Amino acid sequence: MRLSITRPPPGQHRSRSSIKSPINFLCRECGRCCTAFYINVTDADISRIAGETGRRPEDFVDLCPRGSIIDRDEDCDLKMRDGTYRIILAETRGRCIFQLPDRRCAIYVSRPLPCRLFPFDLREGGVVVNEDARGVCGGLSSKGRPVDEGMILSLECQWSQEVNQFAGRIREWNGLFDQGKVDGTRKALLSYLFAAP
Ligand code: SF4
Ligand code: SF4
Repeated sequence: MRLSITRPPPGQHRSRSSIKSPINFLCRECGRCCTAFYINVTDADISRIAGETGRRPEDFVDLCPRGSIIDRDEDCDLKMRDGTYRIILAETRGRCIFQLPDRRCAIYVSRPLPCRLFPFDLREGGVVVNEDARGVCGGLSSKGRPVDEGMILSLECQWSQEVNQFAGRIREWNGLFDQGKVDGTRKALLSYLFAAP
């Protein structure tokens, strides 16, 4: 079992006026966040990566059994014919398939929102360190630069909106599955999510 990076609980998105004390951060490019967590992705994340790289979603996403993922967010649980799954970035040998040998990200410009937001989170409307990042991320130190909290808040809001939209599509898929209108295979899911109308 492994953690995934989750969006803040509902009700955490408020105005910038409630920003808390500054956090200093400088990414060390160690790549630990690319191996320590499953990376949940939405259809919006997947479409951005496909558009940027020219790769097909089936080449870089995978389905992770729900029981293997520690995650407080259940809105995107997918009903498939052999169980419940989450859609994540594919991995090779326990690391994200987009991590380069030198540990940098091959899709840095279009990396998914959980990656953009790590190691931050929201609490009571302010930016805080994601509790799951402690002990993983070495970029959080007084030697770093103050984070752009407005940018983090903006990305968190975008992420929450995109997860909500994706959750709506998942609910629709799960409903179709319950009615026997989709066969619950990976191919059918990707076709449902990404086939041209
Ligand atoms: S997409 Fe990039 S930043 Fe995100 S886990 Fe993969 S390699 Fe790391
Ligand atoms: S774990 Fe922290 S320091 Fe290391 S690559 Fe990820 S964000 Fe940067």
